[in-house]
Amino acid sequence: MAKASEVGNGGQSGIGEPYYCQECKRNHTKGKIYKEHLNFAKFESKKEEIIEDESESTDLTLEDSDTLEEEIEVDTYSEMEEEEFHNEIEEDEDFDEEILALDNDNSDYVDAVKKLPGVGEATLKKLIKAGFGSLESIAYTPPSIIQEESGLGDKTTAKLIKASMEKLNIGFKSAEDVWEHRRNIARITTGSQELDNLFGGGIETGCVIEFFGEFRTGKTQLAHMLCVNVQLPKEDGGLSGNALYIDTEGTFRPERIIQMAEGLDLDHKKVLKNIVFGRAYNSDHQVLLIKEATNLIREKNIKLIIVDSLIGHFRSEYVGRGTLANRQQTINSHLHDLLRLTDIFPDLCVMVTNQVQSKPDVFYGNPTVAAGGNIVAHGSTIRVYLRKGKGEQRVAKMIDAPHLPEGEAIFSITENGIVD
Ligand code: ADP
Ligand code: MG
Repeated sequence: MAKASEVGNGGQSGIGEPYYCQECKRNHTKGKIYKEHLNFAKFESKKEEIIEDESESTDLTLEDSDTLEEEIEVDTYSEMEEEEFHNEIEEDEDFDEEILALDNDNSDYVDAVKKLPGVGEATLKKLIKAGFGSLESIAYTPPSIIQEESGLGDKTTAKLIKASMEKLNIGFKSAEDVWEHRRNIARITTGSQELDNLFGGGIETGCVIEFFGEFRTGKTQLAHMLCVNVQLPKEDGGLSGNALYIDTEGTFRPERIIQMAEGLDLDHKKVLKNIVFGRAYNSDHQVLLIKEATNLIREKNIKLIIVDSLIGHFRSEYVGRGTLANRQQTINSHLHDLLRLTDIFPDLCVMVTNQVQSKPDVFYGNPTVAAGGNIVAHGSTIRVYLRKGKGEQRVAKMIDAPHLPEGEAIFSITENGIVD
């Protein structure tokens, strides 16, 4: 695992530049990061041994010599870079094929983009490569981000956004239309009736939901359970969809998925297959995985995204008061990437977890507040605070929801997952 000290400039490197992964010791290619990382994960244990060996030997020879160590790191990096550069050129030749494959998967969405005024083949390629293969993704993304990621000019970008918004009829609508939309909102069951009731009938799609609480309050267990339940058919409380799990702490356990699937009489092999897993080794990587998600969501029928946990990496990498503003800004933009996904895909649910910070100077009221401060509070739409109850019991308290009363629900964590 990448330690804070290994993470270099901690999130300052630009999004869209090739991403150098400390774990794989290679650059990732945009649009391929999941595949590459998956390949790495398969051989992870082997590589970890090698990496450990390396670090041991550098420790021995370079003790107390920070500058030398840095130089060596830079050296190996540039060698890698060169190697990767060649790989990238080769890989780029496959790009047309990839675009064609994408074209087939998402042909309706891509067709709509193709039909926008002024979109030729070159523009279309740039858009798809940067993850803007639908009218929604263009309409809901700020122009500066589209420009930065696709390399298109500001006038072209402005025109594309305007045309996409017109096509999608984005603008004012009547409250009746809004109600019609909210009435039909799809939900995922948590497995506990009482917890579902707290949410007005399950966790709703089209928004970001944050579970925060102390260590061992069940955040990760809930995340696992939702990954299984989202796969259930609608009549059983699911969305007949798949899940994308971004694990920042290394606490994802397929064993738990198997137990939970078996508790619901599901074929655990199928259930595991339907969970796309991405291990984020640092905050840059975490941000990039979400930026890459747009194409994947359609390709793999993703209906649930988990980020467990949202703030952990940011907290350990941005240390000290001086970096606070920078950290908050990066978290803010990451959260907005997540919120935007729920705009682009209204039937998608995003669940994030958050650690709590102990605040010893508060003597009354709740002594714990969610990490990330106000940024996260304003960014997530529904916030739920978890705390321990008796034994396997946990208490969920609705803290902040635009339309739900501030209630509490008690649920239990068992071998088969979340129950009443
Ligand atoms: P966190 O909020 O830190 O993410 P977790 O979601 O990892 O907490 O919850 C950990 C708790 O889940 C454990 O303390 C235990 O009570 C419960 N738990 C984990 N695995 C099982 C299991 N196989 N059977 C029953 N309970 C479990
Ligand atoms: Mg956890």
